[in-house]
Amino acid sequence: MTADLKKFVQWYPGIASLEVIGKSVDGRNLYALKLGTGKEEIMINASHHAREHITTNLTMEMIDQYAYAYETNGKIDGYSARQILNRASIYFVPMVNPDGVALVQKGASSAKNKAAALRINGNKTSFAAWKANVRGVDLNRQYPAKWPTICCNPGKPSPQNYKGPKPLSEPEAKALYDFTLNHHFKTTVSYHSSGQIVFWHFGQTGALKTRDYNLAVKVNKKTGYRLVSPQPNPSGGGYKDWFVQSQKKPGFTIEVAPYVGNGPVPISYFSSIWKQNNSIGLMLANETIK
Ligand SMILES: [Zn+2]
Repeated sequence: MTADLKKFVQWYPGIASLEVIGKSVDGRNLYALKLGTGKEEIMINASHHAREHITTNLTMEMIDQYAYAYETNGKIDGYSARQILNRASIYFVPMVNPDGVALVQKGASSAKNKAAALRINGNKTSFAAWKANVRGVDLNRQYPAKWPTICCNPGKPSPQNYKGPKPLSEPEAKALYDFTLNHHFKTTVSYHSSGQIVFWHFGQTGALKTRDYNLAVKVNKKTGYRLVSPQPNPSGGGYKDWFVQSQKKPGFTIEVAPYVGNGPVPISYFSSIWKQNNSIGLMLANETIK
């Protein structure tokens, strides 16, 4: 992924730029690639959860296809990449949790503290079901939105669901939080897997709820993914939860692929995921310049 991000910047120098927004627990770079020259900003992130790394493939494909369409004045789903990206910019953070993804793909030897990772994993050598960062904190339960009442917290480092000792205790979540506060994102998408559903609600009422629902319907129309109904007492801590609550802007968690259980989505699903999501970034960027 790192090599490909650097290639994008070489191939598309006028429109793509790369920055490091922080470091993971094990010292891996956390990258953000900016695509576009426009002043309106949206952000799309992927792989908060380790085993959900097909979402990184999806965002990397978006970057490549959007940049290519920009250079060749092409369209995706009728959206002109050049017209949109001259007025808006899309920031992609294609892998929020590189240490966790490395564990899923390469096992304990990818971690600096191999023994600790194995211990958290109950000494299983397969990390296929792992969602957390390398020290067993679930990065999508780290954001300061109803954090004290997050459901189903195991209370100690775990392959999934441990919310950590306090909000933003983990550098990966803190990096995305700080990055968000340094920008004015009109919308954000957090890509997850699996289940083909879209979370969009976290306490919005009145006009904000209507605005965000209307945008969620557009996401539903494109992807075919079901919108999850507002819950009276949602469990919090997710990036989208915090973004919606603190920024008062629409934020989405999109779960790609049919439900596959506790493991990575097989790569054979990629072409259908791509068709369902290919124009999501351009569509949401276009909404900011209407
Ligand atoms: Zn997830």
